[in-house]
Formats: sequence, C-alpha cells, structure tokens
Amino acid sequence: MGNRMVIALGGNAIQLGNGSTAAEQREACYHTAEQLVSIIRNGYEIVLAHGNGPQVGNIILQNQISQCEKLPAMPLDTCGAMSQGMIGYWLQSALYEVFKQQGIEKETVTILTQVQVDKEDQAFQNPTKPIGSFYTKEEADKLQEEKGYTMVEDAGRGFRRVVASPKPINIIEKNVINSLLNQQVVVVATGGGGIPVTICGSHLEGVEAVIDKDFASEKLAELVDAETLLILTAVEKVAINYGKDNEQWLSELSVEEAEEYIKEKHFAPGSMLPKIEAAITFAKSKPGRKVIITSLDKANVAVEGRTGTVISA
Ligand code: ADP
Ligand code: MG
Repeated sequence: MGNRMVIALGGNAIQLGNGSTAAEQREACYHTAEQLVSIIRNGYEIVLAHGNGPQVGNIILQNQISQCEKLPAMPLDTCGAMSQGMIGYWLQSALYEVFKQQGIEKETVTILTQVQVDKEDQAFQNPTKPIGSFYTKEEADKLQEEKGYTMVEDAGRGFRRVVASPKPINIIEKNVINSLLNQQVVVVATGGGGIPVTICGSHLEGVEAVIDKDFASEKLAELVDAETLLILTAVEKVAINYGKDNEQWLSELSVEEAEEYIKEKHFAPGSMLPKIEAAITFAKSKPGRKVIITSLDKANVAVEGRTGTVISA
C-alpha cells in the first residue's frame, strides 16, 4: 500500500467569497485542483473529502421555493446526495483539466458516500446544526407543527430548522474506495460529511441529519488506513488565544496539549473544535498517524513540513 492521504477541503475550496453560480464554484474547484496537483504528483494515494454547507443550503432552498404537488421538495438525505454529485462533478472536471495540462495520467472518480450513524446517538435528542433558510416566528411555528421540524432562533437573524449532527460510525462504500485507491485513482468521497444512514436489516435508511465533515473525513482516513489527514481550511495554522492580543500560532501540537487546550476553550465550537477533535481521534487511532491543519494555498508547503499545525500522538 502506498502513502495514503485524506484531504478534507473546507468551504473556501469550493466557494470563494459568496460566489454561488456554477461558473464561480467551478473556478474555485479549478483553483483547488491546481493547489493539490503537486501533492498528487508526489505519489500519494488521495481521497478528497469536502464540505457542502452553502451548496446543500441552496439545493434545499431551491426545492422549497418550487415545491408543489408535482414537484415535491426532496428530503435532506436526497439533497445531500445531489450536493455530492454536483461538487464531485466540479472537482472531477477541474482535476481532469489540470492533469491534462500537466501531463499527469490519473483519473478522478466521485463516490456517492453513505455514512452509517447510530439511531441511538445522543445527538438525535438535541439537534444543533442549522440548515436552510431563515423564517419568521409564525412560519417557524407552522413548520414545527406540520413537518415536526425543530426550529430555533439563530443569532437574532430569524428562525431556522436544526437537525442532529450524529457521529459517523462506518462508511458503507469503504471497500470500493479502498480498491480505487489501490488502482491509483483519486477518489472524491464523503462529501458534506456523507449521507447519514442507519442500518435496518438489509435496508439503509437515509436520515435527516448532518454529519460533521471533519469527523467523517477522520473516519474515512481510518478506514482507508491513511497516514495523513490533511485538513485544509481558511487559516494557515491553529492558534491558542485566537483573535486575542496574546494569540499564538502553533506548529506542533501533541494529543495531550490539544486535549488541554480544548478544556481551556481555545477552539471555537462548529469551526476549529471539530477539526481538533477529529485530529485527536486520528492521531490516537494508530501509531504514526498524523493530522496537518493548514490553508489551501499552503497545502504543498505544509505537506513538506514547512508550515501548518501538525497534530500527532
Ligand atoms: P471549514 O469550512 O474549513 O470547516 P470553518 O469556518 O468551519 O471552516 O473553520 C475554520 C475557522 O476556524 C477558521 O477560519 C478560523 O476563523 C476559526 N477558528 C476558530 N478557532 C480557531 C483557532 N483556535 N485557531 C485557528 N482558527 C480558529
Ligand atoms: Mg467547518
């Protein structure tokens, strides 16, 4: 088995600023492909995981706006599948072009990925992840009553639906992902954290929930036996006292230090915290495994060990 790496792409790898047209997002994906090509050229077997927040938000909105008897709105798991297909298409197309330009004989394929969650996950008792559009109090009450949605007020901007964010426990398509990696194919997988499913006998039941993409990428990295989980986000390094006068950027972080800093609340929930938690889990899962957190444009330099924050046991 070669040198395997799971690269988790953050929001800015697919959407630059607020550009939400297909052309704008394809351009962002093309830029991402250009940033990643030298890592791919260096012989790593690569899986690309990515977020889908803004994209799935728009798909949900489009479904809502146009819904009528003949055009029913699709449920969240199906919207998630649509976003995986759409973003996977953009990434495949971008990598195809960059590989051709640079004479690299590689292929990319997107795997529609279902991620198993536990029906009994405590997260289902306490939905926290806001999705879709904003509503007035009256609209929110109506949705709560008619559809059974959990609606909460979102930072004074109105009411939003919240869904559970359960932990990933297995990846249904892991074997096919592994065989594609053995064939040196670049695989796009677990987009948007994967489509959450529960197993009911022979049936996979799609769940209206959202799996955190950092946790899903971590699970994927374990299941393909990767050595490195590269988390690409909007910052070059992880900091303690982030945004304060005594801010300190970290080059290396041990699992013990990371656990200590979590207790001291250095990492914002919903943004840096899940990355650090994922990093701790991966670093602890097997000797030699490490996580690099850096920005997209520093990805190459970080893989060479010259920047980013490395988390290891
Ligand atoms: P992504 O789409 O890559 O998951 P997020 O916005 O969810 O991006 O998470 C990355 C953000 O986390 C950074 O842009 C930064 O603003 C924020 N952040 C919060 N706490 C920290 C910290 N301690 N060190 C660095 N960045 C932090
Ligand atoms: Mg995030």
